[in-house]
Amino acid sequence: MKYVDEFRDATLGRGLARAIAAEVSPHRTYHLMEFCGGHTHAIARHGIPDLLPANIHLIHGPGCPVCVLPIGRIDSAIALALDHGVILCTYGDVLRVPASGRRSLLQARAAGADVRMVYSSLDALRIARENPDREVVFFAIGFETTTPPTAAVLRQARATGVKNFTAFCNHVLTPAAIRGILDSAAPEGARLDGIIGPSHVSTVIGSRPYEFVAEEYHRPVVIAGFEPLDVMQSILMLIRQINAGQAEVENEFTRAVRRDGNPKAQSLMAEILEPRPAFEWRGLGSIPRSALRINAAYGDFDTERRFPVPYRAVADHKGCECGAILRGAKEPRDCRLFGTACTPENPVGSCMVSSEGACAAHYTYGCHR
Ligand code: SF4
Repeated sequence: MKYVDEFRDATLGRGLARAIAAEVSPHRTYHLMEFCGGHTHAIARHGIPDLLPANIHLIHGPGCPVCVLPIGRIDSAIALALDHGVILCTYGDVLRVPASGRRSLLQARAAGADVRMVYSSLDALRIARENPDREVVFFAIGFETTTPPTAAVLRQARATGVKNFTAFCNHVLTPAAIRGILDSAAPEGARLDGIIGPSHVSTVIGSRPYEFVAEEYHRPVVIAGFEPLDVMQSILMLIRQINAGQAEVENEFTRAVRRDGNPKAQSLMAEILEPRPAFEWRGLGSIPRSALRINAAYGDFDTERRFPVPYRAVADHKGCECGAILRGAKEPRDCRLFGTACTPENPVGSCMVSSEGACAAHYTYGCHR
């Protein structure tokens, strides 16, 4: 398949591994964070750590949308479904994330709530049209990749006069999370030498929003595609920058990412959504202006204005290390519940739910880094 097979070529991969090995300095270590869960999945699936010198440490970042959603937000969604009689629509993985008392949206459904899995925001709007006597809430989550479809469906709902549809907006922002990690008082941010930048997110926002990382924090960023050769090439580009003492934003994923991203998607988001003053992330705590809410012009379509949606911060399950893993401080196998009490079939924490979660990726592919 075009753009897939050619970026999985084993001979080219071995050549890139040799090039990386030839360029690394034996006198230092390289701590590189893959921000995005898609990269975590690709790295585990294709065994990339096995191709790298031992002094290159790949560190998982928080870029898995299901993983970073704090328990309190899922509790709010469960309360909406159970206490307000709405039809609550969301993506499949979200249904399985354990919330307070390890109760999930799936268990709320078993207890009588009308919770439905959708593949897109448009599915949720269709359900609202089919059920004019019911309130339908779209529990919207994700990074900048899934935000434009949420904005588009709200615009469509207004244009077509749908009155029984709102979105519970929990979309989060990648650059703010990177800043949160780099600003962290914990040692994780300080030890990072470079960042493998997100792929799909960057098709929307472009490479420009990462330039502060190079200018203010003096760390290189290389935006990379999701195929194994993309990841290997981006590691080589980061090693070269680090060795040369450079800090620039480079774009390995030139077949899809431009410096200014997708202006149409950006203007759609800006028309309907606005930054929240602060938002709590699992593992990273509260980060200023790191998430979006629906603006006043579209207030009729905002779940948080139509229903009381109190938020309460809730600690992760005792023993679950998701928070430390999302900050890049620990690895899945550092968790004593990994593969025993916590498996993809019976997840204790969010990182074991989605295929983009670090624990699920390590469990599925037997990654031992
Ligand atoms: Fe949390 Fe399970 Fe991962 Fe442990 S193995 S950190 S409990 S998701």
